[in-house]
Amino acid sequence: MSILAIAGGVGGAKLAAGLAQALPEGALTVAVNTGDDFEHMGLTICPDLDSVTYALAGLNNREQGWGVTGESWAFMEMTRKLGGEGWFNLGDRDLATHVLRTQRLRQVSLSQVTAELTGALGIRQKVVPMSDDPVRTIIATDEGDLAFQDYFVRRQCKPVFHAMRFDGAEKARISEGFAQALADPALEAIIFCPSNPMLSIEPVLSVPGVRDALAARRVPAVALSPFIAGQAVKGPAAKIMGELGLGTTPAALAACYTGLIDGLMVDKADDGPIEGIITRASDTLMRDDADQIRVAREMLAFAQDLAR
Ligand code: GDP
Ligand code: CA
Repeated sequence: MSILAIAGGVGGAKLAAGLAQALPEGALTVAVNTGDDFEHMGLTICPDLDSVTYALAGLNNREQGWGVTGESWAFMEMTRKLGGEGWFNLGDRDLATHVLRTQRLRQVSLSQVTAELTGALGIRQKVVPMSDDPVRTIIATDEGDLAFQDYFVRRQCKPVFHAMRFDGAEKARISEGFAQALADPALEAIIFCPSNPMLSIEPVLSVPGVRDALAARRVPAVALSPFIAGQAVKGPAAKIMGELGLGTTPAALAACYTGLIDGLMVDKADDGPIEGIITRASDTLMRDDADQIRVAREMLAFAQDLAR
């Protein structure tokens, strides 16, 4: 049996970690957004791959909501003292990931480095980037075009979101691990994690062939909504959907996945039928490990019921 999950960063990582615990060892592949990746201080930083990796390794920092647990900040303190760039926080532990990745990327692909880093942390699931080729999310705003991290971190998502594009996507090839998971005869379900539909899922779908391969696969596909009572649990997803004139209703979310999903899991606060799609409601807030595993099991059961 195999299950393919598609995820962005922190929100996606919560469900991915639950799935990892709910499924037999080796059954799960998590295909991860790399549109947020960027070069900073000479380092290649892959925020979503790292969020998923830290969560699967049980090393995610829950208090802070991102990054590594037990983090310290000596590097940033000294960087600021020396007049270096201080707008993007790099914790001391996290920094090791970026340095090792950057070093290894001179010899091997992002997929290979990711396999090495996740393997070193004892992760038994496959974590694969959507592509080994660079894809960079650019946001068109009322203040002009902004590179993803300029919009997200430097400007804290304040500019009004007009549109996004994914530079490099036209030439990007799907990663081997992602393609293998999609073609796996043992594949039983595709699960869209509760990630930001515009900033985390769209870039994955922008890689040539991904959307068609997902749509063509005759296995149940289900998504978990990132919205609860019309609000995002965290981050700018609701603000962006509002600025795009889409809104955050289950129907608006389902429209983001047209042709890709059979079922949508929404929070009990958002329960109600949507035309053309099967919905199911649950308590979708994942506060801890127990919630993550419960919601993961519910998503797997939902997919299994749709297969009948
Ligand atoms: P990012 O790349 O770190 O921004 O993370 P993602 O794109 O993967 O996830 C962001 C989304 O996760 C936000 O829109 C949140 O609303 C959603 N999210 C975070 N925690 C939860 C949760 O416990 N339950 C649900 N349903 N969604 C969540
Ligand atoms: Ca992200």
